[in-house]
Amino acid sequence: MPFVTGTTKAGASWTPTFVENIDSEKCIGCGRCFKSCARKVLGPEDLEDEESESIRMIMTISNDADCIGCAGCGVACPKKCFSFKPMDVQ
Ligand code: SF4
Ligand code: SF4
Repeated sequence: MPFVTGTTKAGASWTPTFVENIDSEKCIGCGRCFKSCARKVLGPEDLEDEESESIRMIMTISNDADCIGCAGCGVACPKKCFSFKPMDVQ
C-alpha cells in the first residue's frame, strides 16, 4: 500500500508521519510538544494516579484531524513518548 507523500521546498519527496499515540506512562507533562506544534493538535489533560491518589498533567491528541505529519512534537519530547505512522493513500 503506497503512503501519502509530499515534497520539500527543493522538490525532494518525503513521507509525512502522523502522530499516532502519546505514551501516558512516560509523559511528564512538560508541555514542550504542545509548544512545538503549529497545528494545535495536542492538548493537556489531567490524569488521576490511583496509587498515589494525586493528579498529574499529561499531553493528549485532542485534534488529530489537523496533524500534518511533521513529527516536530516527537523531536521536542525529552521522554520519547510519541509514535508516528505514515498514512495510506485512500
Ligand atoms: S506531527 Fe507535527 S502537526 Fe502533528 S502533532 Fe506533531 S507537531 Fe503537530
Ligand atoms: S514533550 Fe513529551 S513528556 Fe513533555 S508533555 Fe509532551 S509528550 Fe509529555
